[in-house]
Amino acid sequence: MPELLVCGEHVAKTYGERGHETHALAEASFEIRAGERVALVGPSGSGKTTLLHLIAGIDVPSAGTLEWPALGRREELRPGPVAMAFQGPSLLPPLTVAENVALPLLLAEVPEAEATERAWELLDAMGLTELAEKLPEELSGGQAQRVGLARALVSRPVLLLADEPTGQLDHEHAQRLMDLLLARVHETGAALVIATHDDLIAERLDERWAMLDGRMVAEVTHA
Ligand code: ADP
Ligand code: MG
Repeated sequence: MPELLVCGEHVAKTYGERGHETHALAEASFEIRAGERVALVGPSGSGKTTLLHLIAGIDVPSAGTLEWPALGRREELRPGPVAMAFQGPSLLPPLTVAENVALPLLLAEVPEAEATERAWELLDAMGLTELAEKLPEELSGGQAQRVGLARALVSRPVLLLADEPTGQLDHEHAQRLMDLLLARVHETGAALVIATHDDLIAERLDERWAMLDGRMVAEVTHA
């Protein structure tokens, strides 16, 4: 059986003060193994982003246990074996697109010339070369999202978490982005979790975890 990357048992996340809590994640138990490809589906507010942030180690659970057996401690996940493409704007405003994409490599102490070259190569593979020298403020929402995904891919993570990466793309661009993403994770063997509203995106992954009101209500594995 492939290596166990993430193991969550009764993971919950509550925001806010006593008496005014939001149970963003009421309860989730799950495993992610090497190379798995999961669609996290559910209506807006169902807890998808909360769950991804917990898996990425960006946030900590309020209850339950969450461990990364094959990846290390929470502090070691990013930059490192785990990368996250965020739902909202996340690029650093003073840096160009290429500099933003190269950043995780620089943080991992890859020499600057190599980091720059790898960033440009990936932008090229994603059809984003024309954007390389632009600043984030010059991008459309969909462009910024694709650059955010490039930044998450560049370090060849073991686990890639993408929060509605096609949310601002039309159907054709969304499918092309999925082609690229799936080719890339196939090549690197990365596990992939994508939060999405789009059934046509979810269909392209091997498993579907359905969220409703902070609970994982169904887990389906395709044939
Ligand atoms: P989804 O990504 O499925 O839309 P989220 O995980 O963003 O769902 O949100 C789940 C619930 O938690 C929502 O009710 C949302 O309003 C709430 N929530 C998310 N983040 C916070 C926060 N930082 N503070 C308070 N409530 C939050
Ligand atoms: Mg969300």
